[in-house]
Amino acid sequence: MTDYDYDLFVIGGGSGGVRAARIAATHGARVGIAEEYRYGGTCVIRGCVPKKLFVYASKFSEEFEDAEGFGWTVGERAFSWDKLVAAKDQEITRLEGIYRRNLERTDVEVHDSRAVIEDAHTVRLLSTGQTLSAKFILVAVGASPNVDEGLPGGEHVITSNEAFHLAELPSKIVVAGGGYIAVEFAGIFNGLGVDTTLIYRGEEILRGFDGELRTAVRQEMEKKGIKVVLNDTFSRIEKTADGTLTGHTKGGLALDAGQIMFAIGRNPHTRDLGLEKAGVEMDAAGAIKVGADSRTNVASIYAVGDVTNRANLTPVAIREGHAFADTVFGNKPWTVDHSLIATAVFSQPEMGTVGLTQEEALQRTPNLDIYKSSFRPMKHTLSGRDEKMLMKMIVDADTQKVLGVHIMGPDAGELAQILGITLQMGATKADFDRTIAVHPTAAEELVTMREPTERLRG
Ligand SMILES: Cc1cc2nc3c(=O)[nH]c(=O)nc-3n(C[C@H](O)[C@H](O)[C@H](O)COP(=O)(O)OP(=O)(O)OC[C@H]3O[C@@H](n4cnc5c(N)ncnc54)[C@H](O)[C@@H]3O)c2cc1C
Repeated sequence: MTDYDYDLFVIGGGSGGVRAARIAATHGARVGIAEEYRYGGTCVIRGCVPKKLFVYASKFSEEFEDAEGFGWTVGERAFSWDKLVAAKDQEITRLEGIYRRNLERTDVEVHDSRAVIEDAHTVRLLSTGQTLSAKFILVAVGASPNVDEGLPGGEHVITSNEAFHLAELPSKIVVAGGGYIAVEFAGIFNGLGVDTTLIYRGEEILRGFDGELRTAVRQEMEKKGIKVVLNDTFSRIEKTADGTLTGHTKGGLALDAGQIMFAIGRNPHTRDLGLEKAGVEMDAAGAIKVGADSRTNVASIYAVGDVTNRANLTPVAIREGHAFADTVFGNKPWTVDHSLIATAVFSQPEMGTVGLTQEEALQRTPNLDIYKSSFRPMKHTLSGRDEKMLMKMIVDADTQKVLGVHIMGPDAGELAQILGITLQMGATKADFDRTIAVHPTAAEELVTMREPTERLRG
């Protein structure tokens, strides 16, 4: 592999790219990587990590209220957005440093530049104009927020990128979108005391998740004071004389707000990347087409993570990057199983899920047993909060295999991780039944749901 400057050149220093670069280097490859913004990528810099920190911040308002039911008197409360943003920025900078040092420690050559593809073995760094050759190129450029370019007044809206750095917290916000990012940010703003409206064009938020859970999460969000507008979408955004915004909807609403945030999906970051020059095939949405081994139609070019639009989650991008590096440089070929991915929505209340939804399960098998438990979490017996926890298990009635588990309530994401292992091992309902409960927990419901609440027979 000595004819090239590198054995591997990685474009994009996010979740997938950094993992691939480090693993390839530990297998002995000479690796270069380019990042145009900040090492760590979307997840660390303006995604999962700062988002979760904001979720924590936003939950304190309810915690203070709940404490009173347990005998506490909580004094005067005040919240500083500036302090939160500064603390979050400090943590993100610390993490970014770790990412960069880990690359350097494995002798990956780190470039701070946008890189574009010149041909199947060549990249160009835009900061210097330098061209570099590599036996393999890995495209791990992620995705960026879709901002609905044709919308009149669209230039006035923000996306999740800007939400992390607002100069001040608005008193009113409208979040457009129904996916997990929109729902999570609606919860964050609401918890921080912002008058929050969520507007979504579909019938129900959180498309793709289990139908009952989608409705339950929306109802709980509404109880917390978030106004949810469904089946409607913006037709234009107007900036008023006092600098605030009015979002006019196709349904005839005029929603006033200090900020309007769009979270209506993310586009693969492939524009002007030179992929066409190298002949790399993309789909209609601009996502790079790859096989199970993440190889594109060009033998020397691979792609992992959000840019391939398979399952757009950090742990998936990391796995894909790892599998690529082991396969191509470590003589250990393996592929990522995208079929059973446990995931969380950090909505308020939280949602954790693994496996098939009831709707998906019905497409595969007509005979299902549905086990469901809806109850008030123990904490709220004294806090007095009117909030439900919901657990739902989808079981194949013929084989008794557990096909999916969906939870709404405190720590649902943590539970989903453990349930992910259980379902990966092929657990049956009987496996859950013979497991002794941990008491008193909410999770014990998972092993004490005896009778199906519904028996569906096709
Ligand atoms: C608000 C938000 C919240 C999220 N929350 C979660 C969550 O809770 N859990 C979860 O699993 N996932 C979450 N995600 C998704 C997660 O961030 C992505 O799935 C993950 O970051 C994808 O990794 P990646 O390596 O494909 O791309 P990225 O992490 O996006 O990295 C791509 C990198 O490439 C760089 N780049 C792009 N083009 C070039 C170029 N031409 N040259 C050089 N560099 C370039 C970009 O600057 C970026 O740093 C969230 C995303 C967002 C936006």
